[in-house]
Amino acid sequence: MAINQVQMQPGLSMREFMARYGTQAQCEQALVAARWPEGFVCPSCRCRHATTFERHGRTHWQCQRCHHQATATSNTVFASTKLPLTVWFLAMHLMTQAKNNVSALELRRQLGVSYKAAWRIKQKLMQVMAEHESGRCLSGRVEIDDAYLGGERSGGKRGRGAADKVPFVLAVSTTDDRKPHHVVVRAMPFTSAAVADWANTSLAADTVGLSDGLPAFRALRAEIAEHIVHVTGAGKAAVANPQFKWVNVMLGNLKNAITGTYHAFKFAKYAHRYLADFQYRFNHRYDLRRMLGQLIQHASRSKRWPESRLRAAEFRG
Ligand SMILES: [Zn+2]
Repeated sequence: MAINQVQMQPGLSMREFMARYGTQAQCEQALVAARWPEGFVCPSCRCRHATTFERHGRTHWQCQRCHHQATATSNTVFASTKLPLTVWFLAMHLMTQAKNNVSALELRRQLGVSYKAAWRIKQKLMQVMAEHESGRCLSGRVEIDDAYLGGERSGGKRGRGAADKVPFVLAVSTTDDRKPHHVVVRAMPFTSAAVADWANTSLAADTVGLSDGLPAFRALRAEIAEHIVHVTGAGKAAVANPQFKWVNVMLGNLKNAITGTYHAFKFAKYAHRYLADFQYRFNHRYDLRRMLGQLIQHASRSKRWPESRLRAAEFRG
């Protein structure tokens, strides 16, 4: 699909969303269907035989073999939430249908919850996206570039900017007719070891990678079929090189999405999730109407994220 067709496609309207997911029962049913499409499977022993009972208005399953009790949300990202599922579903709708990233401040306003609650919902849903995208592997022709994010707004203290700057690598695979296909964005230091490790998981062996002359990218040679270096110089000359057309477009979009939406936040600490959010939404852009259903499915099978883990930094530049 051409990029303008992607931009013009109709998303899921708020009316359609409310008709499908407007009540707690509808949301719970959607989670059950997404988590156990062929009927309940015990999360503890994989047994399929269970009895059900209702408690606090929610369905509980009890495994007939090991007596483990589960609900549609137990041991997922929704576990131990005090908020109704309708709030979570509306957050998923807003985060998948918006053209740009939705800030926690905007979520607070739209969901009618505290800022803290909105922040937690957003971080948890971004974590779901990060988990899903962690297995993304590009192949074929791939444009690769390195850049920095953040550091511009760090509370006005001079000299602190550099500490908050996050180095990251963006790679975009292109189709035979040179349209962007999938993207991978990873916060990482620009070292040979980090590049090799990244290429190992994110680039298939048949990849033909194109990059500039960053020394760390030399590590690509051992990991992929071919590594072509174009020394472009900096500034306008680099941006004009047609070999790097899509990686430059994507870098521009990413910077706009992030600096346009977020202000002073601890970017360095949570950068991996903001980058994963961008990556997830780009890689699922082909079908805007299905994007919510896909996120519901990924969330229904996600891991539990206690607050302490949510606040732990995954990567320090
Ligand atoms: Zn069991």
